[in-house]
Amino acid sequence: MQAEIIAIGSELTSGAKLDTNSQWLSIELSALGIPVCYHQTMADDRAAMLEVFRTAVSRSDVVLITGGLGPTLDDLTRELIAELLGTELALNETSLKIIEEMFAKRGRKMAERNRIQAMFPVGSEPLPNPIGTAPGVWAEVPREGKAPCRLAAMPGVPSEMRRMYREQVEPKLPHGEQVIRRSTVHTFGRGESDVEAMLGDLTARDRNPEVGITASSATITLRIESRGVTFEECDAATAETKSLIRKTLGDLVYGEDDDTLESVVVTELDKRGETVATVECASHGLLSHVIATVSPSGPTYRGSIVVGDETGWPSAESASDLATKDGVTALAQNCRDQFEADYALAISPFSKPEGDEAPLVFVALAHKSGVEIREQAILSDLTIARPRAVKTVVNLLRLHLAK
Ligand code: AMP
Ligand code: MG
Repeated sequence: MQAEIIAIGSELTSGAKLDTNSQWLSIELSALGIPVCYHQTMADDRAAMLEVFRTAVSRSDVVLITGGLGPTLDDLTRELIAELLGTELALNETSLKIIEEMFAKRGRKMAERNRIQAMFPVGSEPLPNPIGTAPGVWAEVPREGKAPCRLAAMPGVPSEMRRMYREQVEPKLPHGEQVIRRSTVHTFGRGESDVEAMLGDLTARDRNPEVGITASSATITLRIESRGVTFEECDAATAETKSLIRKTLGDLVYGEDDDTLESVVVTELDKRGETVATVECASHGLLSHVIATVSPSGPTYRGSIVVGDETGWPSAESASDLATKDGVTALAQNCRDQFEADYALAISPFSKPEGDEAPLVFVALAHKSGVEIREQAILSDLTIARPRAVKTVVNLLRLHLAK
């Protein structure tokens, strides 16, 4: 069994846009144990597309196409699939209704040319698009002396393509002999080599599931790749490995997959009905941004004070007073009082050291029974130091909530 992926759009071949769909789809297909042998990126060109479709269908068992499903004249994919199947396009009333409703919901009238998006090659199946107007096309293309080729055409817009693939295409695809499940566990608080040493044999190369380590802006992520004959087998092995990791690393682990430090903290606060406010100097609003933009954050987030680490204060002297343990304690306590929040997170300005000492930044968590402080030396450049300070203070709250 082999697959190939075709990305259509003159904006891709001209260099205006990079084809990221093929990369994403290849990773997904590898998880199904289906090797991808060809990527083709091509312009919206009738003759070229037909040639590429014909070749793909003849040599590959799975063909995934993205792009060219729009309502305009240069969107040729559905028409050429009809030609490939030797059939015509026919109107699908259900799809037409869905597209009309989509426009109505946005308070717009459907343009006549959008009707083409409800036309499908006879013998194919529409793939509904819940977040856009262009439905996809599923077809099983007959081949002489071979099983039919499974072909899916999906929208070019990456978010629409991904959702359609996950919900509607993947369940229709065959599996190879070995499937792969990938997931991640995130940790904060120790460096990469410490985490690796703690994990010991868990990171051995020949282990299944394999555990790999990547570090990215102070967060250490463990990538777990589980191989097996069925997804159930992979999932069971992954769960076992995750529980071993959690047992070994304890509260260094803050979450899995899409979790972030701030999402974990805000979700926990939401659950408890508790609130948080922030005050920051060195981090220029980054702390406020990450807390305030976490999705479940409703009444949890009380507000922020953001001050430039030098110019925002009445005098440089007060800035240097704040870059101390006492200074950051006062910041956190005042913020908690001012916003009447259960917790306040504070980040001081960078200190102004004498000689060749490293500058420091202080972070603090204020809660009803006191203040917890951490001090960090700035050994890297500020673009790394800022997010690190933000994560350190959010992590203080996470650990406090876990007590
Ligand atoms: P289309 O479905 O051809 O109308 O494409 C809609 C938009 O999706 C294009 O304007 C691109 O911005 C984007 N797009 C299309 N194909 C790809 C691709 N292969 N990778 C990333 N973005 C794409
Ligand atoms: Mg296009």
